[in-house]
Amino acid sequence: MELELSPLKLPGIDPKRPIVIAGPCSAETEEQVMTTATQLCKKGIKIFRAGIWKPRTKPGGFEGVGTVGLPWMNRVQQELGMLVATEVATPKHVEAALEAGIDILWVGARTVANPFAMQELADSLRGTDVPVLVKNPVNPDLELWIGALERINGAGVKRLGVIHRGFSSYDKKIYRNLPMWHIPIELRRRIPALPIFGDPSHIGGKRELIAPLCQQAMDLGFEGLVVESHCNPDSAWSDASQQVTPEVLDFILDKLVIRNITQSTESLEALRRQIDECDNSLLELLAKRMRVSREIGQYKREHNMTVVQTDRYNEILDKRGAQGVLCGMDGDFVKTIFEAIHEESVRQQIDVMNK
Ligand code: PEP
Ligand code: MN
Repeated sequence: MELELSPLKLPGIDPKRPIVIAGPCSAETEEQVMTTATQLCKKGIKIFRAGIWKPRTKPGGFEGVGTVGLPWMNRVQQELGMLVATEVATPKHVEAALEAGIDILWVGARTVANPFAMQELADSLRGTDVPVLVKNPVNPDLELWIGALERINGAGVKRLGVIHRGFSSYDKKIYRNLPMWHIPIELRRRIPALPIFGDPSHIGGKRELIAPLCQQAMDLGFEGLVVESHCNPDSAWSDASQQVTPEVLDFILDKLVIRNITQSTESLEALRRQIDECDNSLLELLAKRMRVSREIGQYKREHNMTVVQTDRYNEILDKRGAQGVLCGMDGDFVKTIFEAIHEESVRQQIDVMNK
């Protein structure tokens, strides 16, 4: 299904990259909301975010203030002239948020992973033209992400955007949620008109990673950023370790290098031609390697040998992985490539052996 999109066109917002949405993970008190929003406003931030309803991994945590927080968001609109955004996860949230005149809604990662919940949300949005930002689902499934967009778009919502917040994993050594940049990049290739916001706070899970992740999002040509910012981060009721003060946020944004997306220079074209040549050579070499594989398959067939010889396979993976590292590449990346090559090689050999 093709999405029918119209530009986000947020009133009073310059579409210049990056469009910044900032504010605390959660609205906690009226004072915290107003203090944070005022400080952000002074730094030139025009869109304020705060979670009113919070999906929490375990029960017993702070689950958001609920509807009592909506009038606080209204004060931010009226007294500071900012647009306000909040997360909706159920039709009740949608109804309350629209009733309160919230300017932008976003759908959280856990909700996007659930097609039933997404369809109910979509149905509750029918007939409105509020902009909706759809976070990536917690699991790295691009089709599920696109499916969620299709459901909302199918209900007639045309002002859509997405938020890349990373993907859940058991390994949290560096990131709270793995960025897996190839997924938003593929989304951009599939649906070029869809604005992408980077969410460095939920990817990184820690303050130190906000700046580099913002820069990476800009380097990939994302349109915007959603950053968690709190007037007193250490005392935040949720996601304390990943929030920065408006002061720090301003410093980070100020240092961002915003590269031009459209301007393509001659030297860039020349470099791209080199890439094309490399890709051609890669394919020719791969085809040659597969021809050799088929010959090996023929040999194994004649000598009644098994296709996969584990020792040889491990030797290739280890040797090439180490060689890749010496060439300045990631060892796991090289191993992944050789695993894929080996898989195709095995397929070709089996083909020969069963001829
Ligand atoms: C949030 O933005 O505060 C949030 C709950 O994010 P996510 O759905 O990405 O976990
Ligand atoms: Mn959060």
